[in-house]
Amino acid sequence: MNEMAKLAGFEHVQHLSIPLPGEASQEIFHECDDEDERVWMPLADNVWIRPLLFNVVQGAWCNVVKAEGEGVVGRHRHPAPVLGYTLKGAWGYLEGDWIARPGDFIYEPAGETHTLVVHPEAGHMKTLFHNMGPILYVDENGGQIGYEDVFTRIAAYKKHYAGNGLGADYVDRLCR
Ligand code: FE
Repeated sequence: MNEMAKLAGFEHVQHLSIPLPGEASQEIFHECDDEDERVWMPLADNVWIRPLLFNVVQGAWCNVVKAEGEGVVGRHRHPAPVLGYTLKGAWGYLEGDWIARPGDFIYEPAGETHTLVVHPEAGHMKTLFHNMGPILYVDENGGQIGYEDVFTRIAAYKKHYAGNGLGADYVDRLCR
């Protein structure tokens, strides 16, 4: 245990294999950037996603969603919270009454169901999302018609990157 952890009074948790204050490693991921078209995997018509981090311990992931024109992410339910930060453009949910613009931060509590749409006024969007759990695709009555979790996303990215030359191991380097 390091001195900072002792000073903070964390001696009682030293049997846990979690990083204590001052022990967690910091990392920067910069092998590819937004300009490298290979990192963008199609999610739907006019919608692409770029992975930033896969948390396979907690079933969570961070990604950037990019959409243009009539981009729509079909109606889905989040059993766990989602955080979002709008980088470019404008977007919202068919079920919502707000429009997110650059700099807007969105907190979605567990249990939200919505359909993501690009706001036609801007015609494009780019947003950072932190999904804390799976995505359950549902029909208009709320019946489940599909799902994605951190593992199905990893598998889909690996297949995509193996095919476009970036290489499946790009995904492994983002897993924690
Ligand atoms: Fe969502």
